[in-house]
Amino acid sequence: MILRHRPVELQLRHTFRLARGASDSRTNLIIEVEDDGLIGLGEAAPIARYGQDWRSAATAVEKMVEGLKDPRCFDSAVDRAAVAGQPAASAALEMALRDLAGKRLGAPVYRLAGIDPKPMPVTSFTIGIDEPEVVAEKVRQAEGFAALKIKLGGDDDRALLEAVRAVTDCPLRVDANEGWTLEQARVYLPWLADQGVELVEQPLPAGQIEEMRRLKDISPLPLFADESVGRASDIPALAAGFHGINIKFMKCGGMGEALRMIAVARAHGLKTMLGCMVESSLAITAAAHLAPLVDFADLDGNLLVTNDPFRGATVANGRLVLPAGPGLGVDPRDV
Ligand code: MG
Repeated sequence: MILRHRPVELQLRHTFRLARGASDSRTNLIIEVEDDGLIGLGEAAPIARYGQDWRSAATAVEKMVEGLKDPRCFDSAVDRAAVAGQPAASAALEMALRDLAGKRLGAPVYRLAGIDPKPMPVTSFTIGIDEPEVVAEKVRQAEGFAALKIKLGGDDDRALLEAVRAVTDCPLRVDANEGWTLEQARVYLPWLADQGVELVEQPLPAGQIEEMRRLKDISPLPLFADESVGRASDIPALAAGFHGINIKFMKCGGMGEALRMIAVARAHGLKTMLGCMVESSLAITAAAHLAPLVDFADLDGNLLVTNDPFRGATVANGRLVLPAGPGLGVDPRDV
């Protein structure tokens, strides 16, 4: 098996502002694994918060490929070869090997996993933190989406959400990105419920599980863990403080672990959401192959980018549509 990789700089449509900071572009790693004349594609979106970048992901993928005996046996082999602290690299390699397997067998990845592609969840479009007028304009541009995800946790969350509500009746999901205190969250949650918000992601900082327990007791809205959760083994301890979890390939290490997370979450009575980082249509489409299994999708990372190098899953009437081709069904796009 031959491995090739290259960085790709994804330009963001809008400066991306979170409770934690701002950025105009992201550099991801694209990998190709070639075997028997077929090429499998994978993408890593390294997470700077956890000390990763495209170089560390590239080094990790190279090391993992050395430890891989047979590209057809990826399920536990990628886990065994995983480099500590580099789950985005694992996600990229596993994605590429599943793409390769699908192309070898002439079947889409969701078919190989036995997934019915029909019941696709509504996917949300993310509106980043900005001045209320800018937010209102972004919301107008997002027409056609059946749910919007509003990033809060800034200085004036009420004004921001009111600016959104003034221009749309669309169901809203709120992501506070750890931006509130317990006291703030207690005040915000009933008000957000009145505003037609359907769920709130990561209201409090990741370590505050005891505070989350108290918040869950009184919350009128479902609370989803994002920064608090990485892998399946994190889930049991979170069940008392959250109603659901956000699953991201780049944090958990790929599709295999994401499937385990869905199973563990269900076993604990938790809802599931599939989320993403800023990713091209390659990694977004890989996650979309699992979307029929979850309650909510938030797979819009590719739509926040102006120079997406791939085409794959699309959105119609607010729901994801999977491509028909074998493997991931992703093709390069001329940009
Ligand atoms: Mg989040």
